[in-house]
Amino acid sequence: MPVKPKLATIWLSGCSGCHMSLLDNDEALVSLFKEVQLVYGPLVDAKDFPENVDVTLVEGAVANVEQLELLKKARANSKVVVSIGDCAVTGNVTALRNAIHEGDSAVLERAYLEIADAQPQVPVDVPKLLKRVFPLHEIVKVDYYVPGCPPPAENLAYVLTEILAGRAPKMENKSKYG
Ligand code: SF4
Repeated sequence: MPVKPKLATIWLSGCSGCHMSLLDNDEALVSLFKEVQLVYGPLVDAKDFPENVDVTLVEGAVANVEQLELLKKARANSKVVVSIGDCAVTGNVTALRNAIHEGDSAVLERAYLEIADAQPQVPVDVPKLLKRVFPLHEIVKVDYYVPGCPPPAENLAYVLTEILAGRAPKMENKSKYG
């Protein structure tokens, strides 16, 4: 039996809308997922990003050190990285975050103490915020971009189908970012 290509999806700082759009492909997604092994992502119970991934779809922008390390690890272990959605492609609304990041304490105190309705408590082990939010291509090499907020379901299916078939998807904005 031929080995199926490995597919990973990552959700960084985004709203999950891009993943929801991927799921909107309904029956087409069932056919598509018969052709791959889904090895990492919100729909998979995998703790660490695996090695030798064929295609990784990344939603969301990079806002903290944990996401920064995950993205670098994903890039190092993926043949193809696809930036899906405007947050990943440009930063989008997520780029408005991190205006207050000094030591993160002001943000945490505001969120978990000052406006807490009950049991005010600052959590431990919160990943440190970056000084600003980054679109993916400012951190790692990105192979393809699927813009939109969220990107249309059919665009995600098209790009994934083309890559799995060994063809380069023709995206209108490829020359702008690629
Ligand atoms: Fe959500 Fe839009 Fe960002 Fe996707 S691009 S994570 S849908 S805000």
